[in-house]
Parts: sequence; structure tokens; C-alpha cells
Amino acid sequence: MPLLVMKFGGTSVADLDRIRNAARKVQREVERGYDVIVIVSAMSGKTNELVGWVEQTSPLFDAREYDAVVSSGENVTAGLMALTLQEMGVPARSWQGWQVPINTTSTHSAARLVDIPRANIDQKFAEGMKVAVVAGFQGLSPEGRITTLGRGGSDTTAVAFAAAFEAERCDIYTDVDGVYTTDPRITSKARKLPRIAFEEMLELASLGAKVLQTRSVELAMRYKVRLRVLSSFEDGDETSGTLICDEDEIMESKVVNGVASSRDEAKITLVTVEDRPGISAAIFAPLADAGVNVDMIVQNISEKDYDDHPGSVTDMTFSVPINQVERAKRAMEEARQSGQITYDELVVDTEVAKVSVVGIGMRSHAGVAARMFKALADENINIKVISTSEIKISVLIDRKYMELAVQALHDAFELEQA
Ligand code: ASP
Ligand code: MG
Repeated sequence: MPLLVMKFGGTSVADLDRIRNAARKVQREVERGYDVIVIVSAMSGKTNELVGWVEQTSPLFDAREYDAVVSSGENVTAGLMALTLQEMGVPARSWQGWQVPINTTSTHSAARLVDIPRANIDQKFAEGMKVAVVAGFQGLSPEGRITTLGRGGSDTTAVAFAAAFEAERCDIYTDVDGVYTTDPRITSKARKLPRIAFEEMLELASLGAKVLQTRSVELAMRYKVRLRVLSSFEDGDETSGTLICDEDEIMESKVVNGVASSRDEAKITLVTVEDRPGISAAIFAPLADAGVNVDMIVQNISEKDYDDHPGSVTDMTFSVPINQVERAKRAMEEARQSGQITYDELVVDTEVAKVSVVGIGMRSHAGVAARMFKALADENINIKVISTSEIKISVLIDRKYMELAVQALHDAFELEQA
């Protein structure tokens, strides 16, 4: 039997009507001849509510009990989905993570998948069950306790099942109808992409296009799971939504396929640090130890001799998520006090945003950076920091120009046209 994995996010199972709507989509695939593994999230808002209850009960909670509570939302939707399917005459059975079992590490609240033995579910399929409904987001630790995979983790559950059961495809039903060239709230010219390569999606997911949990895309890329994002509120067919697939499946790609933006950025500059071997390690090790996620880094070359500095000095600039600024400042102050580093001043700019262009076509095309910088220059937008990778160019700019920059780049790379 060919097998499909269908995942329904929180808004797609928000109430009994929506569960019925989702179940009808499952029923249709069964009628087409598929065995189906359905992965469900908790009803929308439920996980937040559960997290809130845990925090109110115990501010410094035991992570094992956090997982025990927070994983429970998915148990409810899994059972209700199985019941709904049974009412429609579809042989279905629900599974909690420990019953499969979905084996994970014991890092509670952020567990990683270890393996998913197929035997239990395969046996039920062999006995005539058509749909296995599995609670997403949860697993079982080696110690025999319930774990969760981190917020948004049921995407990752879905991809892992698609890999383990060699599914033809993994369909992620959500409240948006696909992946867009950019955030449609920023420009109405944003276009839905019929296909996008794993690597591009990975860049867009980590850049804040919050359609999929980043880990799920990493997993899909590693196991070449064809992933489709589509709306559960539309009547679609096999071509609906966006297919996230290997680049071999994309005939001709544009140079740039997406513009991503993120407003939660801050820029920190250490003014006049010593320019000597080991200085970068001395700065970034304490930041890493403090759990600060450094993104872009610029070290200026010291071309100038400052009278009041005996050796050569340089400025070091880096960006961090805005909510980690205080943590970063503290780590730097402590490193200065303990004599690991010296600097005259620490300057923070919290009014910045990051804008990036992404495309696998960049690997074989020159001039993308020039085109990007020209488009920003034409709008009089000043670039503060630049970083590049093989398929991405990012700039840090004043936050107030973020929307303008996205619109200008969307036009410059002609993303409106297919
Ligand atoms: N219900 C969990 C969350 O809200 C997992 C998921 O929906 O992916 O994070
Ligand atoms: Mg989600």
C-alpha cells in the first residue's frame, strides 16, 4: 500500500468541526488507496495554556513534569481524530508517543528523536486499519518518561514518520496556503511558490518564515522526504500548496526565490578591542557559554594607529536576538572584568532589522549582491552589516526601513513573476 503522512496543525484541529473537516481530507486519501499516518497538534492555544499552567504552578518547574502536562494537548486531538474517522466508517486507531514508541533523548522540553520502530503500527495496518493517528510533539525517553520535542515539534514528528515509513509524501496542513516569496503582509506582490528546494526553505525557516519548525526541514532534507505545505481550509488537489523538495525536482530556478526579514535583531559593537590572535575566541566563547545566539559578525581590519592604544586595535560588531542583549552585555562585562578581553565601549543598537535574499541559483550566478545593494541604495537605505553564504545574502539595516527594503528587493529580483 502506498502511504501518506498528513499533519494537521493547531488551527486545523481547533474545534470539532475543524477536526471533522480534517478527517474528511484523510478519508479522501484513504478512498484514493492510501494508508495514512495522521499527525496531530494540540487544538490551537491549548499548548500555550498548558505552559501557562505549569509556570503558574511552579516557576522553576521540573522539566519532566512540564513535558507530562504540555504533551497532553496532542493526546486529546489524537483520540478525537480517531473517533471522528471511525464515525465516518474509516478504520482508525490513535497512538500516543510512548505507545509507538517514539524514542527520543532525555533532554526534556527539547528532546531529539532517536528512532521510531515500525512494528506496532505496521501490524495494525496489516490487520486492516487504514489510518494511524499519532499525537505529535511527544516521545519517550530512555528512562521511560514522556518527552516533548520543542515548540512546533509536531512538524518534526510528521517528517520523522514519513522517513521511517517511507511515505510517498508528507503533507503539512496549516492555516496558510503555502510558502510565499516573502511575507504577504509586507507586500501584496508576494507570490506563492509552487516548489522550493530544501536548502532554500531551511534558510527561510530559520530566517523567520514561521511556516515550519526548522528541524523538520533539516530532517526532510536529510531523508529526502517530499514535504508539502497547504491550507486545511481549502479544497485542494495534488498540486495545491508548496512542495518542498530536492533541487533536482526543480527544473529551472530563479537566482533569488525569496526575501526574508526579521525585526527582532540587535547590533552590538565592542569599540577598540585588541587586534591579536585569540581575540575572537576570547569574545565569542563567553557569549556561547551564556547561551547567546550570535548571528552576523564583522571585524574591522585595523588600518589605523590610535595614539592611546599601544598595539593595534579593531572594532568587533555582531548581531544577536534582541531579547538576548542584556545577557550578551553581561557576558562581555564579565569577560572584561576577568581580563580576558579589553574594550573602550560597548555600543548597542536595538533599532535594526535583518533582510535577506535567498536562492539556490546564487551558486551559479554572479552579481546578486551588487543588484541587492543597488536596490537598497536607490531607496536611500544604509547597510550596517553584511553577511553572505552560498545561497543567501543578509544585511542589517535600520528597522524603520525593513518593509521598504523587502518591497524594493522583491521588485528588484522580479519575484512577482513566475
Ligand atoms: N502543540 C505544540 C506547540 O504548540 C506542538 C505543535 O503544535 O507543533 O508547540
Ligand atoms: Mg506549527
